[in-house]
Amino acid sequence: MQADTPVPPAPAAPLRLTLDPAALAANWRALDRLSGAARAGAAVKADGYGTGAQRAVRVLADAGCRDFFVANWSEAAPLLDLVDPASIAVLHGPTTATEAAWARQSGLRPVLNSLAQAARWLESGGGPCHLMVDTGINRLGVPLAELDDPLLARLDIDILLSHLASADEDSPLNALQCQRWHAAQERLPHRRASLANSAGIALGADYHGALTRPGLALYGGVPCASLAGTIRPVVIPEAALLQTRMLQPGDSVGYNATYTASSALRVGVVALGYADGYLRCWSGRGTLRLAGQALPVLGRISMDMTVIDLSAAPEAREGDWISVDYELPTAARLSGLSQYELLTLLGTRFSRP
Ligand SMILES: *Cc1c(COP(=O)(O)O)cnc(C)c1O
Repeated sequence: MQADTPVPPAPAAPLRLTLDPAALAANWRALDRLSGAARAGAAVKADGYGTGAQRAVRVLADAGCRDFFVANWSEAAPLLDLVDPASIAVLHGPTTATEAAWARQSGLRPVLNSLAQAARWLESGGGPCHLMVDTGINRLGVPLAELDDPLLARLDIDILLSHLASADEDSPLNALQCQRWHAAQERLPHRRASLANSAGIALGADYHGALTRPGLALYGGVPCASLAGTIRPVVIPEAALLQTRMLQPGDSVGYNATYTASSALRVGVVALGYADGYLRCWSGRGTLRLAGQALPVLGRISMDMTVIDLSAAPEAREGDWISVDYELPTAARLSGLSQYELLTLLGTRFSRP
């Protein structure tokens, strides 16, 4: 290669994660409506649950969403130019003085999770913030026993939030957490109260406060039966067909030869593997599609490749885009993975156009 020859752009990736912006917007609007008097925000942590946080935030902001939640500071950075930084809440809070200072410089809003984080925020100069109160999940959040600490009285709290442990099941913990969250609201001045995640929205008005925080259901996940008719699928993983080949009876496929053809069979090799999040649990179990035709996975999933049965798609040619059956509730049942894992597993080799 000559040093003075500019290298042209790289060829397109053989994997893409197609996003249906209309479905994402419709899911947000449906969850906003179901939130009653509350507004719906959006959890966009973990790169928008794997869908691509920047494009998700653009679509959600256009749909009317005004509150966004990420887990940590580095996730917030790529979103700073897209929406008002004050509308982005960082759930892990300021874990160091450096993070607290950066929050103030960037205009992002920290969620304070402990007295130590509250002290750190005030020492950095303070300003509007959110406060997470633990009502029973025992993960992050200020314990109820510490709510009268004078340090908290010095905070300028916008959102007073808590998080449900079992919103996706019928558990007595839901009502208990709801009651504790209402009691906490009496003890600390704040502008908006927030409790419900996706499944929590379906629990009813007591759980809504001023702001709800759906994540999973925005992206097509269905955490509880009552949302089943409302939520639309949002993402479709697709990969290129790299090669087609003929198997003869007795030929086996892939590592450890776990599939053996009993008759002559045309198969395809697709550029998708467990390194892309299509895990080995799909071996002999997953379905891919071309023009609606079902193409079953044969044998083991490899790191970068999956072999499929092309019997139903004789027209399939190398270079075709093959889609993956990934409707989340069904995929979770078939794979044993959670709907959250199915989304956030999808790897960095997917382009997210
Ligand atoms: C992830 C998260 C949400 C969103 O939860 P879903 O179950 O995906 O709707 C809401 N609030 C907090 C604090 C979270 O960490």
